[in-house]
Amino acid sequence: GEVTLEKIREYVWEIPQQGGMRVPARVLASEKLLDEISDDKTLEQLKNSAHLPGVRKHALCMPDGHQGYGFPVGGVAGIDAEDGCISPGAVGYDINCGVRMLTTPLEYDDVQGHEEELVNRLFEAVPSGLGGGGVYEGTVEDVEAILERGMDWALENGLATESDLEHCEDEGYRPEADASAVSEKAKNRGKTQVGSLGSGNHFLEVQRVTDVYREDVAREFGLEPDQIVVLIHCGSRGLGHQVCTDYLRKIEQTHGDLLAELPDKELAAAPAGSELADEYYRAMCAAINFAWTNRQLVMDRTRDVLTDVFDVARTDLELLYDVAHNIAKKEVHTVDGEDRELYVHRKGATRAFPAGRPELPPAYADVGQPVIIPGSMGAGSYVLRGGERSMDETFGSTAHGAGRLMSRTQAKQEFWGEDVRDDLRERQQVYVKAQSGATVAEEAPGVYKDVDEVIRVSDALGIGERVARTFPVCNIKG
Ligand code: 5GP
Ligand code: MN
Ligand code: MN
Repeated sequence: GEVTLEKIREYVWEIPQQGGMRVPARVLASEKLLDEISDDKTLEQLKNSAHLPGVRKHALCMPDGHQGYGFPVGGVAGIDAEDGCISPGAVGYDINCGVRMLTTPLEYDDVQGHEEELVNRLFEAVPSGLGGGGVYEGTVEDVEAILERGMDWALENGLATESDLEHCEDEGYRPEADASAVSEKAKNRGKTQVGSLGSGNHFLEVQRVTDVYREDVAREFGLEPDQIVVLIHCGSRGLGHQVCTDYLRKIEQTHGDLLAELPDKELAAAPAGSELADEYYRAMCAAINFAWTNRQLVMDRTRDVLTDVFDVARTDLELLYDVAHNIAKKEVHTVDGEDRELYVHRKGATRAFPAGRPELPPAYADVGQPVIIPGSMGAGSYVLRGGERSMDETFGSTAHGAGRLMSRTQAKQEFWGEDVRDDLRERQQVYVKAQSGATVAEEAPGVYKDVDEVIRVSDALGIGERVARTFPVCNIKG
């Protein structure tokens, strides 16, 4: 349908409250980024999300936003945890999809000439692709332990250090998790996938730092020009997908009244306080724990390879931070001068808390949290820090990527995997190895928006501030 936008100020656009909307909706974007979402469903989905009961202040779309299942990717909604609701479609199928960055003492010089070996070794060491096969072949009981304890399980099993836990959002563990709220089917899907990238958009990328924008913060984060870092992007695999599917179905069946009030069935939500809202929350937290453990095990394998190929000590390969970008969390935010507990839904959006928020680990309490934002295998990626304005503007959130410009189907018509790979190698010295050529086409740099533009908007709004930029060296994907 037709959506009208009013410009509030530079980079802030509003869809005024109308019809069944409970609050206005806002898009944070430059004119160019806005233009790129003008002919798909993004704005309509954003408008629809403002119909959810209990949504506070405004429904939001981050600068990298694009259309998703019901709720935009790049969407943020703070929904009252007492009289609002929780919506699986506003979290996403890949619960706790996210990224982490591993820092190294290596420089680009150390790696140049070894790219081929490095990319092959990583590809062998880190399971990827659609099907099964993970770093850890466990039983359903192991999966249950992971669901309930997250990265604590990895620590107990010698697959993580205390320092890893201290450098992960929520210390890699959500205590509300309940394995009994997760179906057998989901657990069985997870059993063979503990420690695996998955397919498509998920990747492991060796990068070099190309730019530093805020030297003092970069120093706190342990980042400097030419340094080699590793970015890991994956989520909760088939397990998280199954949790989302299971609860969407249950919620549609049980809360038909609420569904009937919503403009899109894909926004199905469970009313706060209902049994299903609590059960979904506990199951989602379990899937969150699973995803953190998954990224931890992939990082553990990465450390194996790096210490093998280069002259580096394991203890010098440090986790900068791990951030979730498909999640809903109970958080306290100030709404109309009052502290309220909200289910903050971030789907394709990253928490970006500034200095002083109690959730931050000691290492980042005084600078703000690292926010890690991938670009593409042929463009930069960014490390930001949570900005002061994020609490007022976006419930403490910013973008999660460059954002897609075109569908996977369209991408395969526009690009040919082998050409993309050869081009990256010859023109940009980026070494890519993937399970399938189709994946490379679907993820070609040209399918994504301009990440520099996305980050410029985030920085200008003060929600997530630029600290450093990286560029790919080697990339493996499913
Ligand atoms: P999503 O979680 O929405 O699938 O992806 C997050 C972001 O990752 C995308 O918006 C895109 O900007 C970025 N991305 C996708 N593939 C790659 C890659 O191979 N390398 C890097 N650095 N970023 C990527
Ligand atoms: Mn994902
Ligand atoms: Mn993701």
